[in-house]
Amino acid sequence: MQIIDGKEISNRVKERVKAEAIALKDMGITPTLAVILVGEDKASQTYVASKEKSTIACEMGSVAHKLPESTTQDELLALIELLNADDSIDGILVQLPLPKHIDSNKILEAIDPSKDVDGFHPINVGKLNSGLDGFVPCTPLGIMELLKEYNIEVSGKNAVVIGRSNIVGKPMAALLLNAGATVTIAHSKTKDLAKVCQNAQIIVVAVGKPNFLTADMVNDGAVVIDVGINRLDNGKLVGDCDYDNVAPKCSMITPVPGGVGPMTIAMLLSNTLKSAKNRKLKG
Ligand code: NAP
Repeated sequence: MQIIDGKEISNRVKERVKAEAIALKDMGITPTLAVILVGEDKASQTYVASKEKSTIACEMGSVAHKLPESTTQDELLALIELLNADDSIDGILVQLPLPKHIDSNKILEAIDPSKDVDGFHPINVGKLNSGLDGFVPCTPLGIMELLKEYNIEVSGKNAVVIGRSNIVGKPMAALLLNAGATVTIAHSKTKDLAKVCQNAQIIVVAVGKPNFLTADMVNDGAVVIDVGINRLDNGKLVGDCDYDNVAPKCSMITPVPGGVGPMTIAMLLSNTLKSAKNRKLKG
């Protein structure tokens, strides 16, 4: 069994992004990410701080808009319009979840698709599902990068994605399908999930429940990608997989922490660089 080292691969991606960002700087271009945070959610504040730090570490520009919880939907839409029109901004990311009085779909649809580095705009969702080039959500994109770096063949494999969120499950399934896998998407209504999983050579679990994927569900030699991030009462961070019992059955597995998690920010930086190149080099 081999452990997939997401920390190492994410560092490689970041080094590559940094080298390209430095080369662009010499041409007078600074790829710049604008992050919008509304409200005081502690986890969101941590994510945004980490995104800002990583962006700056990669020699890119970082602009943060931290708005009060009382911000109205119209005020947020007005800010997005300003950022859409600002040529110095290459990527716009609205940190989710938004306060309940704001319609997230309306906000995500207002972002210029060419600056939608999170890949949540319906135009980018459509492009992914049509196999066209666009922006792909960072977590599943990072998983594809892990599969590629570890030479895991996807084409012709049976893959099961557990979870059907717009952020992880659905785009993950589309990417695996585009790469030639036979894909099953499982969710809370799926019957006999163990049987569905036993047929898979690749399992991606994105449910948000500790110890959800157990050893009896996993075929010998399967590749298991654990997307879950769960904080236990004792403060320990775990994934969705019963790691100690599942890992011995796998050919490869991602740990939590240190697997999928670090890839998400790395791919956000990569998408921001891609946007700057698309917008400023290709005219
Ligand atoms: P989500 O929107 O809550 O989706 C969870 C999915 O799991 C849903 O599709 C749900 O099915 C399914 N599910 C729930 N119970 C199930 C069951 N008993 N059997 C089968 N499926 C079940 O969560 P998410 O945003 O996709 O995130 C999933 C996990 O990944 C969370 O732990 C999150 O923190 C983590 N995450 C990690 C990263 C990272 O960077 N590593 C990024 C994003 C998310 P229904 O649709 O039928 O309800």
